[in-house]
Amino acid sequence: MTDVIIIGAGVSGSAVARELSKYDISTCVLEKCEDVCEGTSKANSAIVHAGFDAEEGSLMAKLNVRGNEMMDQLSKDLDIPFKRNGSMVVCVHKDALDGLKELYDRGVANGVKGLKILSREEALEMEPNLSDNVEGALYAPTGGIICPFELTIAMAENANMNGVEFRFNTEVEDIKKGDDGFWHIRTNNGEYVSRYVVNAAGVYADKIHNMVSADKMHIIERRGDYCLLDKEVGGYVSHTIFPQPTKYGKGVLVTPTVHGNLLVGPTAIDIENKEGTATTAMGLNEVTAKASENVKNLPMRNVITSFAGLRAHLERHEFVIEEVKDAPCFIDVAGIESPGLSASPAIGEMVGNMLKEKMGLKEKADWIGTRKGVIKTEGLSIEERNELIKKNPAYGTIVCRCESVTEGEILDAIHRPLGARSLDGVKRRTRAGMGRCQAGFCSPRTMEILHRELGIPYEKITKSGGNSAIVLERTKGEVSMS
Ligand SMILES: Cc1cc2nc3c(=O)[nH]c(=O)nc-3n(C[C@H](O)[C@H](O)[C@H](O)COP(=O)(O)OP(=O)(O)OC[C@H]3O[C@@H](n4cnc5c(N)ncnc54)[C@H](O)[C@@H]3O)c2cc1C
Repeated sequence: MTDVIIIGAGVSGSAVARELSKYDISTCVLEKCEDVCEGTSKANSAIVHAGFDAEEGSLMAKLNVRGNEMMDQLSKDLDIPFKRNGSMVVCVHKDALDGLKELYDRGVANGVKGLKILSREEALEMEPNLSDNVEGALYAPTGGIICPFELTIAMAENANMNGVEFRFNTEVEDIKKGDDGFWHIRTNNGEYVSRYVVNAAGVYADKIHNMVSADKMHIIERRGDYCLLDKEVGGYVSHTIFPQPTKYGKGVLVTPTVHGNLLVGPTAIDIENKEGTATTAMGLNEVTAKASENVKNLPMRNVITSFAGLRAHLERHEFVIEEVKDAPCFIDVAGIESPGLSASPAIGEMVGNMLKEKMGLKEKADWIGTRKGVIKTEGLSIEERNELIKKNPAYGTIVCRCESVTEGEILDAIHRPLGARSLDGVKRRTRAGMGRCQAGFCSPRTMEILHRELGIPYEKITKSGGNSAIVLERTKGEVSMS
């Protein structure tokens, strides 16, 4: 019997888990994949939005602005990279300049600080690679960039350090209210019983909601395709460059990433497929065409990979964070499309406060709100590296050449709380495999380490759990020497 079960270990579920880990209750996260951050939280623009887009007075606007405010302290506490690089909404048509003023006014009403409308000259001075057609821009200094993997993993890890359990490869199949008054949650890994349930299942949140409520929910998966460019061109722009928004969202942006790449995307294509994350040639062509309207001569020959993510879009385009009316003690965290990443700390805070009040929760005296991330040797001075290697020679062996990731970092990623068990698990914690060769060089070496450290047979090592094994069997079997 658990006090609270959270369904989904994306950025929303992990934020709620960290918040609940402050209280003296039992909390367990059920996740169908083999690691945290396997859903939408792994494939997005990684922007901490300033908060001028969302409709005034909406929950989206409120939680976006609050989440943005919380990010400085949170990134320090959890030792994750976050940079306020500032964002610009670029206007390339004179007759659309009024739209910038509307966004400015909405931003001010939402409580966004420091907004400024820039002239063409001011915009070009700040970003020389903007289109020659630029007429002006809205500048938001509080916009930022973050690593979505590190944010999600760090919040989950910190929750786990404070006693929250995580059950991976555990898919919720059905939920019923038992005669005992508690929620009975059937999974592919046995039954769980809980007083409260938090539904943070991303694009599956409608499926989970519909298991307990007669008031049905429908999520439309809105796919966004991206191109990721090499670090060589990571400085092509220094701010996040947005077009003017449309009813489909914030449009195709061009942004540096917090790790120094350049990211271009996303599209916004409605599909009815919860697993439809394959990119299409049409989508990627659209990314280039639309981004080129605002940024000139984009170096698209430096693309190192493409990917797509799915927004959990609800018709009413609003976060739904509430107790389900006909299912008491069941809390939806649904419709968490953009700006869900930015808002995540505030989503955690909101659900934490709701449950604190409902359940009369008491704070633990021994809660620890900080954690140390995997040491990244790439950012260290030669003296610091030598010191580290003296203590642990594994920090002297480079495994991923593109991103300069050492064996010591991979060992740390594997052996820390909620440690990595797959190639993607290692990649998201250390960046091994994120670089120009996209894991061509380091995969076999990372597999050797996973095999050695965790005793996983080679044939069972996966890219990201499930059926994603890398090798099938030995090609030569046992070789006889006689
Ligand atoms: C193209 C795109 C761009 C975006 N850009 C930004 C941005 O720049 N800034 C920003 O703030 N936001 C952005 N977002 C939004 C942001 O990524 C999401 O709001 C956020 O990641 C949602 O997190 P989540 O935890 O709610 O969902 P998810 O990350 O999808 O997590 C849900 C989890 O639930 C699990 N699950 C599902 N069903 C079950 C089940 N039956 N049993 C157990 N587990 C289950 C899934 O495996 C998954 O791990 C973007 C989104 C997209 C798609």
